[in-house]
Amino acid sequence: MYYRDTWAEIDLDRIQHNVSRIKQHSGFEHLYAVVKANAYGHGDVEVARAALEAGADMLSVAFLDEALHLRRAIKDVPILVMGAIRPSDLAVAAEMDIDVTAHDLQWIEAALCYEGKPVNLHLKVDTGMHRIGMTDAESVRQACELIDSHSQLNRVGLFTHFATADAQTRAGYDAQMQQLERLTAEVDLSTFRYVHLSNSAALLRFGVQSGANTGRLGISMYGLPPSHDFELPFELEQAFSLHSRITQVKTLEAGSAVSYGGTFVADEPVRIGVIPIGYADGWLRYHQGRSVEIHGKRYPIVGRICMDQCMIQIDDSVQVGDQVDLLNDNLRVEHAARDLKTISYEIVCSISDRVPRVYKRGGVVVGERNERFRPDLTGDV
Ligand SMILES: *Cc1c(COP(=O)(O)O)cnc(C)c1O
Repeated sequence: MYYRDTWAEIDLDRIQHNVSRIKQHSGFEHLYAVVKANAYGHGDVEVARAALEAGADMLSVAFLDEALHLRRAIKDVPILVMGAIRPSDLAVAAEMDIDVTAHDLQWIEAALCYEGKPVNLHLKVDTGMHRIGMTDAESVRQACELIDSHSQLNRVGLFTHFATADAQTRAGYDAQMQQLERLTAEVDLSTFRYVHLSNSAALLRFGVQSGANTGRLGISMYGLPPSHDFELPFELEQAFSLHSRITQVKTLEAGSAVSYGGTFVADEPVRIGVIPIGYADGWLRYHQGRSVEIHGKRYPIVGRICMDQCMIQIDDSVQVGDQVDLLNDNLRVEHAARDLKTISYEIVCSISDRVPRVYKRGGVVVGERNERFRPDLTGDV
């Protein structure tokens, strides 16, 4: 239930199409659906369920809080926290069956003090991203030895992350693969149940690496290309769209200015439509000057975007109550990203939880979530 005329639609069929197509294309035995950041703004539980139905068999997130939120709704599926958790939170993770990341020796030494229900660890090796992870072969060897010496710590996974898998050339990817070989020279990869290297870009481009059996699928599951620097092997289906409705229509005389700062001045009489979406919804001020779509026709956003509303220059065909599309199959997320000099990830992650999410299957609404005001899910998605 929500009481405003702005909403995001998430097409779960499209998410499922993308997951099964990419899984088949990549050839991996296992697949993590990456649902961090509330599934890139799409809704963590709904997307996770859809992805699991479509062939993903595990879930991964960035933080323990995200994992716990998912675990309340989804049992019996491995959930991995890819970021670093505090060693003092191992009991919380173990209690809820959350797998965690062991990213350096100091962390592992602290984890050796953990006594409690056994917890699954994935070793993170840094092959060139230079974020978290172990950077030398001796640390990786010692990490394995230390973990194996402690019966409460299960060594189940090993992973790394590519910094440039979406770049024009594969040189950076190849260099990281070589570094992985060096870093794991002293360990037997077959002693890990899951070895996972690939993000979306690598899943789309590079196939199964020797020793690996799992990938981590993020952005492309949502139907968004990781970058414009390589050609997709097949089309992805954008699952996210953003909509509003005209609140008021007014005609302004020539010379009238619109919104804060009066940055738009009408040079002739103009018709203006107001819509209830603004930068507090993640519809950032940078969108000023870009277009929206009403009945399939484009109209520009004029004047500054306010916190809760913005204005559109319309024609006589537009009336109060008409639907306004801000993102759809024509107004694509990747185009908004290009216009704002950013990436698709940032566009969808920015849409705040003040905007209700409506879920569709087979073209009909199957549920909705209004996280900010009514955190319970309604419907059967
Ligand atoms: C976010 C993330 C992913 C997913 O990356 P995409 O480019 O969205 O596919 C995979 N692995 C790690 C460690 C991540 O942080």
